[in-house]
Amino acid sequence: MTRSSRISGFYKRSLKERSQLVGEWAGLTPHEQDVLEGLSGLNAGQAEHMIENAIGVYALPLGIATNFLVNGKDYLVPMVIEEPSVVAAVSNAARLFREGGGFITSSDEPIMIGQIQVLDLVDVNAAAEIVLAHKAELMAEADKVGGSIVRHGGGARDIQVRPILNSSVGPMLIVHLLYDTQDAMGANAINTAVEHLAPQIEMLTGGRVNLRILSNLTDQRKARAEGMIPARELASDHMRGEEAVQSIVEAGVFAEVDPYRATTHNKGIMNGIDAVVIATGNDWRAIEAGAHAYAARNGQYTSLSKWWQDADGNLRGSIELPLALGTVGGATKVHPAAGLALKILGTQSARELAEITASVGLAQNLAAIKALATEGIQRGHMRMHARQLAVAAGASGELVGRVVQAMVKEGNIRLERAKVLVLELASNPVYNPVAGAD
Ligand code: NDP
Repeated sequence: MTRSSRISGFYKRSLKERSQLVGEWAGLTPHEQDVLEGLSGLNAGQAEHMIENAIGVYALPLGIATNFLVNGKDYLVPMVIEEPSVVAAVSNAARLFREGGGFITSSDEPIMIGQIQVLDLVDVNAAAEIVLAHKAELMAEADKVGGSIVRHGGGARDIQVRPILNSSVGPMLIVHLLYDTQDAMGANAINTAVEHLAPQIEMLTGGRVNLRILSNLTDQRKARAEGMIPARELASDHMRGEEAVQSIVEAGVFAEVDPYRATTHNKGIMNGIDAVVIATGNDWRAIEAGAHAYAARNGQYTSLSKWWQDADGNLRGSIELPLALGTVGGATKVHPAAGLALKILGTQSARELAEITASVGLAQNLAAIKALATEGIQRGHMRMHARQLAVAAGASGELVGRVVQAMVKEGNIRLERAKVLVLELASNPVYNPVAGAD
C-alpha cells in the first residue's frame, strides 16, 4: 500500500482526529490509542521499576511531524517536546524537502566504543604493541559474553590502542573495543564486554586497569541525511527564492565558522533530534554528549550541518552526527509510549531510526535558519508563545484561542497581559476579537 505522510491541514484537525489518523496509520489497538492520548501509559508502578526513589510520573506533549519522505518512504514522526513551534516548523521544513525529492540518508554499522584505561605501565608503547598482537583472542573473548547480540550477528569488530604519554597521573594506555551492538544502543553489552576483558588486559600488559566503560563519542556510529529544496519554494512576498537560498547559505556558514552561532544552530538541530530520541525511549543525554563532542572534533566547535547552493541554484543541506539509538533495550520496550513511537515510525531497525532522526535534525535546522534568514524567528514563534502564556495565565479550552487572538492583535504578548485578558474574556463570552481564526 502506498501512503503519504503529506497530510494537508493535519494541524487543523482536533486532537482526537489526529490521534485516530495516526492510530489508523500505525494499526494501533484501542488500548494503544489510549496510551497515546495519555489515558493510559506509563504509571507510577512501572516508574518504580525504572528509577530509584520514584514517586510518580511526569508527562510531556507527544506530537507528530508530518511530510517526511526519507529514501522514498513516508514517515509520520513522533516527537516529545515541551517547546512550542518545533513540531510545526519541522513539518513545514519536511514539506519543503519533499518538493526536492525528500531526504537521502545513510548510516554506519552500529559500532560502539568501549574504553579500558590501563595505568602503572613501564612502557606504554610496548604495552600497546602487546595488546594489538593479541587482538584476535581479545575479540574472541569479548564475544564470549556477547549474548544475543553475537547471535544476531554483532559482537567485537576491532581493538585499537591510544597511548597517552603524559597526564597529571602519569602515562596511560587506553584500549578501545569496537563492538557491533546491532539494534541496541548497547551500553550494557559494551560495559559487560570491557569489564570481562580487563583482567586479560592487565595480564598481557602488566598494568592496572581503572575505568572500563563505553564512550558516548560514538563516532563509528554516525548517521547522515541530505536533501534539496527548490529555490522557488523559498520565495516569499519580500524575497526571491535565489535571495532566500543565499541568505540561508550565509546563515549556515556563520555556524561553520563561529562557535557562538554554532551552539545555537546545533541547539536547533537537537530540538528535533532530542524530541525523536525521547519519543522512542532512547537516552538523550548520550545523544547530546556525542553530538556536541563530534561538533568539536577538529578542535573548534562547529556546525553539525552544511548548507550550499547547487549548480541549479537550489538549496542543499546535509547533516552528519553520531546517533547511537536503539530499538531494543533501555526504556524502548519499558515505556509504553516509546514502543508506540517505533510502531508509528514503522521500524525496528536501529539504523533506520538513526537515519530518520538525522533527517529530522536537518529539517529542524532548515526551519530555524530559514526563519532567521528571511522573516526573523519571532513572527511565527510569538503566536505559539502566546498560547503557552495564555495557558500559564489560567486559560483553558476555547478561551486559550481568544486570549491568543487578543494578544496577537494588540501586539502585546506578555504574561501580565494574558492574566488580565483571561479575567476579561472569561467573564465576557461575547467579546471575540477574531472569531474562529485560531
Ligand atoms: P539493554 O541491555 O537493556 O538492551 C540491550 C540488550 O538487548 C542486548 O545486550 C541483548 O541482550 C538484547 N537484544 C535482544 N535483541 C537484540 C537485538 N536485535 N540487537 C541488540 N540487542 C538485542 O540496553 P543497552 O545495552 O542498549 O543500553 C541502553 C541503556 O543503557 C539506556 O537506558 C542508557 O541510558 C543506559 N546507559 C547509558 C550509559 C551511557 O550512555 N554512558 C551508561 C550506562 C547505561 P541479551 O544478549 O541479554 O539478549
